[in-house]
Amino acid sequence: MTLASPHLDILKEELCSLHAELIRWGLVAWTSGNVSARVPGADLMVIKPSGVSYEDLTPDSMIVTDLDGNVVDGTRSPSSDTSAHAYVYRHLPEVGGVVHTHSPYATAWAAVGEPIPCAITAMGDEFGDDIPVGPFARIGDHSIGEGIVATLKGHRSPAVLMRQHGVFTIGKDAKAAVKAAVMCEDVARTVHLARQLGPVARLGQTDIDKLYDRYQNVYGQHPDEHNGATA
Ligand SMILES: [Zn+2]
Repeated sequence: MTLASPHLDILKEELCSLHAELIRWGLVAWTSGNVSARVPGADLMVIKPSGVSYEDLTPDSMIVTDLDGNVVDGTRSPSSDTSAHAYVYRHLPEVGGVVHTHSPYATAWAAVGEPIPCAITAMGDEFGDDIPVGPFARIGDHSIGEGIVATLKGHRSPAVLMRQHGVFTIGKDAKAAVKAAVMCEDVARTVHLARQLGPVARLGQTDIDKLYDRYQNVYGQHPDEHNGATA
């Protein structure tokens, strides 16, 4: 079955190029990561097909499912993580994109089941807290999705380290979720390296709050403002 819509075509193209970002930033091995996007205004999502290598992904190969993970457009099976992505969209209406990777440094923290302490300003900016650990959950049913939602609902961090598995990130759209996955791996690596040099201290809560507020609300380019932007 094929769903025709110019919006959907754009979303599929976007999703295809975002999968290339996972490779570019060293977040995936073989076919292990996936990105999905909610279809705005519909109870649908677009996700990577299962087991297709990244270089063979095309916009047309992307799979559209409903928010229970049933395929409504596409010729292949959707990613084996589809039920986790679908669960997140059903339970967190503000989320427009979900990413899953086994990126090595972040997954190392997940393997030991330890949150990444909010020890550097980049973490205060992007995550506003420690990056939390979610429960161990088996692949294939609702339990991964439940664990993601239970951990991230009401949490500032857009990333969760699912215990002994890997990283899930959320965002207002798929690009934001990919950015969170890239930043999660980056800070996981930096804080790990810092640990080799000595004890790592968490930033003070007031500083974390200020960093987070500034980065989320002030920093960056604001197209609706005419007075320039911060660097
Ligand atoms: Zn996985």
